[in-house]
Amino acid sequence: MSNNGTPSDYIKRIQAQREEVANRAQEVKESGGMGAAVGFLHAEMDTLAAYKLEGTAVSCRKGCSFCCRIPVYVTEGEAELLAQAIEQDPKAADLVLLARQEAVGVAEWASMPTADRVCAFLDKGSGECRVYAARPLACRSYYVVTDPARCDTVGNPGAMVGKVDFGTGMMRIGGALIKVTGKFGMLPKMVMAALEMRARKN
Ligand code: SF4
Repeated sequence: MSNNGTPSDYIKRIQAQREEVANRAQEVKESGGMGAAVGFLHAEMDTLAAYKLEGTAVSCRKGCSFCCRIPVYVTEGEAELLAQAIEQDPKAADLVLLARQEAVGVAEWASMPTADRVCAFLDKGSGECRVYAARPLACRSYYVVTDPARCDTVGNPGAMVGKVDFGTGMMRIGGALIKVTGKFGMLPKMVMAALEMRARKN
């Protein structure tokens, strides 16, 4: 800890910073709605990543999608954005797979058939995210610095993966995201719930 003061001073400072970001996101939400608030916080993450990754040898490359095979958590606001993306383009997600994954908890994820252990938004042919602009914070903050082969949970299960640590910046943005854009849960369940809610409203 490079700051002055006690651990409790340090925690208070982080909390104050998180509150400051949350207040700004809340203002955006009140003027522009939930989608705008999520977009604001995602942009904050992208700015932090651009700053933090300067000079860092990141292994991630377009089309390398091993990390799209591990469980992803999203908030209600993020799920809403992903549901909108599906409404705009039903081909943005594999809806049959999404429905199959809906009932699967994090503990059972690894027991699913390999083919099912993939994000429903991934284009399996190209290995690219079909909702890249709307991808959740969990995906926007996942940068690997070790050999990509270690990320292969099928060919290399249990391998240790080194990731960029966004430290207090992540606590600030992640904390604000949960505070302003709702509770979080596993992506398939959250997106299905958002789709059902939108269907009931329409
Ligand atoms: S939302 Fe996109 S980046 Fe995130 S896990 Fe799914 S396919 Fe990968």
